[in-house]
Formats: sequence, C-alpha cells, structure tokens
Amino acid sequence: MASITLDNVGKVYSGDTRAVGDVNIEIADGEFIVLVGPSGCGKSTLLRMIAGLESITDGEIRIGERIVNQIEPADRDIAMVFQNYALYPHMSVRQNLAYGLKNRRTPKAEIERRVNEAAEILQIGQYLDRKPRALSGGQRQRVAMGRAIVREPAAFLFDEPLSNLDAKLRVTMRLEIKQLQKRLRTTSIYVTHDQLEAMTLADRLVVLNGGRVEQIGTPLELYRRP
Ligand code: ADP
Ligand code: ADP
Repeated sequence: MASITLDNVGKVYSGDTRAVGDVNIEIADGEFIVLVGPSGCGKSTLLRMIAGLESITDGEIRIGERIVNQIEPADRDIAMVFQNYALYPHMSVRQNLAYGLKNRRTPKAEIERRVNEAAEILQIGQYLDRKPRALSGGQRQRVAMGRAIVREPAAFLFDEPLSNLDAKLRVTMRLEIKQLQKRLRTTSIYVTHDQLEAMTLADRLVVLNGGRVEQIGTPLELYRRP
C-alpha cells in the first residue's frame, strides 16, 4: 500500500490545451478516492499521469516516496482497470491473470497461489480455462480486476470500469468492488460518471471542473444540502 501525493499537478497537451491545472491532493494509505466531473474535465488525464502513462507538465506526483516520472515502467507498482477490459483474446483467463506476474519473474508456485486467490475473491474459478470471448461482460470485467489484484500493487487505478455493463450488472459489480475494497484496503483512485458508484465507493470525492479541483470531501460532506 502507499500514499499518493499530487503536488501542484498540471498538464498542457501540445496545441496548448490545458487539461489539468493546480491539482493538490493528499491520498492516504488505503484510501478510496473517486474522481468525478463532466466529460472533458480532466479525469482520464489525471489518472493516466498517476499511472505514468502520460507526461506531467507541471508539479509532481509521488507514490509513497517515489516520484512517478522517475520510476521505470517495469517497476511501477500500480495496476489499472479499464472500461474495455483490455484482456488478451488469445489467452485463457488463467493466462491473462498470470501474464503480468510472469513478466516480473514471479516464481511459479507464487503465481499459482495468487491466481487461485484472485479467482476465489472474484468467483471466476470455473472460467479459468476459457478464452475471454466465451465470457459475459461482467465476467470479463472480473477477470480484468483479477489481473490487477494478482499484482498485489501499492495502488489500483480504475478508469470507468463499469461503464460498459448494463444497469443491473453495474449495481452488482459496484457492491462487489465495495467488498473488495473492504477486504484488500488497497489505495485506489476510481473515475466514474455514475453518482451512485461515486457515493457508494468513495472515502473522499474529488470534483473536477475545467481541469481544476472544484470540491473535495466525503460523500456526506459534499451531498449534504445546507
Ligand atoms: P475526462 O476524462 O474528464 O473526460 P480528459 O482528461 O479526457 O477528460 O480530457 C481533458 C481535456 O484534455 C479535454 O479538453 C480533452 O479534449 C483534452 N485532451 C485529452 N486527451 C488529449 C490529447 N491526447 N491531446 C490533446 N488534448 C487532449
Ligand atoms: P502489466 O503488463 O502487468 O499490466 P506493464 O508494466 O506493462 O504491466 O504496465 C504498467 C501499467 O500500465 C499497468 O497497470 C498496465 O495496466 C498499464 N498499461 C500497460 N499498457 C498500457 C496501455 N497500452 N495503455 C494503458 N495502460 C497500459
């Protein structure tokens, strides 16, 4: 686990688009932060900068003691869950889960232990030998989360992970993520458009507008009307 610090973070894309500016957030160890705000407010840009997938124009992002831009990609201790699952279609579920660990030269017995544990947590044990195309949307998203969990990362980054699912499944998965959060207590940053998802999951919400932090607080603090 790790704390994450955003210190005056800003991003200007080439062509002079300021996507993010003056963002200061201290995220505690084990805290679950939800980023909300209208389309184009900079949520994805911020998440991608924290992931080290996008360069940072101003300021600094630290994960624990380490500065994001100075960490080699192979040493990045964060795992990201995407809306489109990003599973490898030619690999079985088991291979998808193990892939990132194999790349990191994790011993075979340890890979097996972690894959089985993730499969148990996410209830995907009976699908381990299937290919992603033989799974439903919800099952695919569980595998995508499993791939993040097996890494045992210092932090999870979620980019609208439930947006492609139907309304009923979103409710189920939202509650499952809540359970996961209680069990693992891994520092998480979660981007969503969905108010219920935000309210259910967030320890604190960060409301972005025009690339800047408009409000920050617990769901109770932000949604209680005076
Ligand atoms: P959100 O995730 O909240 O919808 P984004 O982070 O995707 O917002 O976008 C923030 C702003 O940055 C928008 O004005 C968007 O058009 C712009 N933007 C995003 N990605 C790029 C890019 N690769 N090049 C130029 N501008 C971009
Ligand atoms: P892994 O293969 O185990 O996911 P990597 O070192 O390749 O690990 O990637 C580091 C992080 O960046 C991971 O969290 C991964 O999900 C994310 N990532 C990797 N490739 C991409 C990509 N093309 N686009 C967005 N995120 C990516």
